[in-house]
Amino acid sequence: MQWFTSIGKTLKLDRIVNIAKDSLWQANCPLCKRPADGILCKDCDRQIAAYQAPEFLQKDNPISPEIPLYSWGIYDGALKRAIAACKYDNHPEIMEAIAKKIADTWTRSTDARTFTQNIKKISVIPIPLHDNKLRSRGFNQAEILARRFCDLTALPCHPQLLQRVKDTKAQMQTKSIKEREQNLSKAFTIPSAQVSQQANSRSVILFDDIYTTGATIREAIATLAASKMTVRGVIVIARPQFKSQ
Ligand SMILES: [Zn+2]
Repeated sequence: MQWFTSIGKTLKLDRIVNIAKDSLWQANCPLCKRPADGILCKDCDRQIAAYQAPEFLQKDNPISPEIPLYSWGIYDGALKRAIAACKYDNHPEIMEAIAKKIADTWTRSTDARTFTQNIKKISVIPIPLHDNKLRSRGFNQAEILARRFCDLTALPCHPQLLQRVKDTKAQMQTKSIKEREQNLSKAFTIPSAQVSQQANSRSVILFDDIYTTGATIREAIATLAASKMTVRGVIVIARPQFKSQ
């Protein structure tokens, strides 16, 4: 009897170890909760890929003719849901999967290759979150994106350079263009120590998750310009198909 009990205990323990191993090494897809080999399951990955924009470089130059906007996808459907699941359901790993897609597209894009060849010493800077939001969310999705993108493209990432000093409202909650501009006015700053560290690298690529009105990006460009840093391009995951400007 003693022997059977002992075997039973051993088997049970093995099973527990296996379940623990499975949950550690084979995390389920954060979007559909089914088993996945990578971060996302193949099905969700395919659904997101369906929202890749036909053109990476946005030909309508929504920021300015001098500052190209690269948008990987269309902010809708499965891609929009994935970004929301990352930010509001605490799945930062989704940004890692999306950053890989953006890096692949960037590496294959002739426009992007020519762009980096023509600019020496470029820094990639994610749009920062205010400390309050960073504390409540636990991570900055734009920083995860930028870091992973830089790992894959060998571009230098400087997530500490720009800081958000104003706890702004979500732009969606503002009612007019004037309110939107006031909401973001002086939202960013650059600590003086960071300015001197960047003395050799005055060219910047900004990274953000979504491009809507462009107000956040314009404010960041103005803050960097005040420290004699030039934004040469902006990369985002997605923008809505119908521009809201
Ligand atoms: Zn899935």
